[in-house]
Parts: sequence; C-alpha cells; structure tokens
Amino acid sequence: MKILVTGGAGYIGSITVERLIKSGAEVVVFDNLYQGHRDAVHPDAVFIQGDLADKTAVEAAIATHKPDGIMHFASYTLVGESVEKPFLYLRDNIVNGLNLIEAAIANGVKGFILSSTANLFDDPERMPIDEEERIVPGSPYGESKFILERYLYWMDRLYDMRYTCLRYFNACGATETRGEDHDPETHIIPLVLEVALGQREKITIFGDDYDTPDGTCVRDYIHVVDLAEAHILAMKEILNGGHSRKYNLGNGRGFSVKQVIDTAREVTGHPIPAEIGPRRAGDPDILIASSETINHELGWKPIYPELRQIIEMAWKWHVANPKGYAK
Ligand code: UDP
Repeated sequence: MKILVTGGAGYIGSITVERLIKSGAEVVVFDNLYQGHRDAVHPDAVFIQGDLADKTAVEAAIATHKPDGIMHFASYTLVGESVEKPFLYLRDNIVNGLNLIEAAIANGVKGFILSSTANLFDDPERMPIDEEERIVPGSPYGESKFILERYLYWMDRLYDMRYTCLRYFNACGATETRGEDHDPETHIIPLVLEVALGQREKITIFGDDYDTPDGTCVRDYIHVVDLAEAHILAMKEILNGGHSRKYNLGNGRGFSVKQVIDTAREVTGHPIPAEIGPRRAGDPDILIASSETINHELGWKPIYPELRQIIEMAWKWHVANPKGYAK
C-alpha cells in the first residue's frame, strides 16, 4: 500500500512511518517542519516539505503520488496552548485538515486515518472511557479534532471514503532511532528524563490534591509503537473493505504522575527532584481508555503495556540523543 503521512516528521508520525516502511508500505511524508524534524523522516520515505495551509501544494502532492490512504498527524496538539490561542486551533487545524480531506476526495483516496484525541472526553461518566462515552471537547484543540471527525463522517456518507478516527491518550516511549523531541517540551515523561540528564533542575508536579489514590493525576500512557501499529491495522482494514470507525486507544491502565516519576527514578538511577506546584488548568483527575473495541474488531493490543518498559525505551533514546534531533 502507498500511504501519504502528514506530520511524518513529528513524534508519532515519524515512528508510524518507520513501522509502515518496515511493513513493506510505500510512504510519502508531507510536513512543514514547523514542529517536526527532517532527520526524523525515514530515509526510504519520499519527503515533501509543504504546508497544509497551501491547498495547491497539498493537491499537487496527492495528485502526483496517488496514495491509497492518508494518515493525518500534522496538527497543533497542545490543550493548554489551544485555550490561549483558540483561532490557531479552531481555524488552522480545521482549515488545514479540510484542505487535505478535499484533496483526498478529489483524487479518489480510499482510506483516511485521523489522529484524534482523549480530549473529546472532558466529563466522562465511566472509567475506562469507551466509544459510547458522550463527546464533550475539553478545549479548542479537542473541538478541532471533533469537527474533523464530523467532516469525515460526511465524506464517508457522500463520497465513500472510509476513515478511522483514533483517539489517543498519552503517547510516550521511543524506538531505537526515533523519539520525543518537542520545543518547548511540555510532556511529563520527556521532562522527567531531562531532569535525569541534568538538563533541568527538577520536575514540578501540577497538583497533588486530585481525587486519586496518591493525589496526583492518573493518565493512560500508551507506547508510540503500539499507536503506530494501530494506525497500520486500521488502514489495512479500511483499504480491505472494512467500514469507517472510531476507536479509543490507550493502554487500559492508569499511572499517576508520582508513579511516573518514581519509575523514572528506578530506570535512570537519578534522584529526580520533584516539587508540588499548582494545578494546570483543564487537567481532569483520571483519564483511562478502554481499547476493547479495537481489540475485538482489529485484534490490536499493546505490545508494551508496562510503564517501566516505556520509560526504559524513552530513556535509551534520550541518553543516545541528549539534544534530540539537534545536531
Ligand atoms: N504534568 C506534571 N508536570 C509537568 C508536566 C505534566 O505534573 O511538568 C502532569 C499533567 O498535569 C498531567 C500529566 O502529567 O496530569 C500528563 O501531562 P502531559 O502534559 O504529559 O500530557 P497530557 O495529559 O496533557 O496529554
């Protein structure tokens, strides 16, 4: 299969490209390198430096390469930033996604995978969160993904383009050659590892008065390779005639911020000083996914469910690449 990957120079996108190529797929990466890294793009992928805001460039990429399917990772992805800059999310994420979807339809693309988010579930009634949970976007970021999910529904209904929306929980971990390198970094696992590397003095725990066993937030940390494999399975399914779907994608287990820090202390052998700070706006107490549906329907299950193993793999990458992709 031939797949066009937007955001294929980013963290989850580049690792999905690595796995796609390993599985024998042909890959075209479309990325503006705004957040991604050229060195993260697998050497066997065709690389197009382009911006989804440039409709002509998107159309040209799809018309030239004629992919069977598209995996759409490229996006602004930070919940907090989206509250500060709602238009970046409610305009750019949506318009860029629409440019891509429209070009896909115009060129007869058969399958589309959208990176969606756990931020669709701001007020869950049940834990773990399954696909029946009502959708309450928690931020302009979550809303932008929800709107793209709805556009895809209409593309399926009107143009027979099949899609799968994958609502990720907390992506983390690394492969031997690719890992997490954001600027600025905001995610808990790379931040604690930066403390262990001596690049930061300490980690601040954003609140210890949550309604959880140790008072710190509980999240579902899913290994990026497991996420990548879910994309590949989902794409094969729709290209083989399967119907459109939406799946929640997580490990099915929750770990607290304190558990993450303690595990990182064990893995790195570094004391990782931590202090308690105020809560971060918009953080719910607990977010855990139920991935039963994708497990039953596609046979997906995480290969790396253990937090220790996830942190070990991330640590290995950080030690080998202390400056990330920077030379
Ligand atoms: N967190 C923290 N200190 C930090 C960064 C994150 O305590 O410096 C907490 C955050 O409040 C949340 C969890 O770690 O409860 C995971 O946050 P992250 O930003 O990694 O992912 P998110 O849940 O926002 O997708």
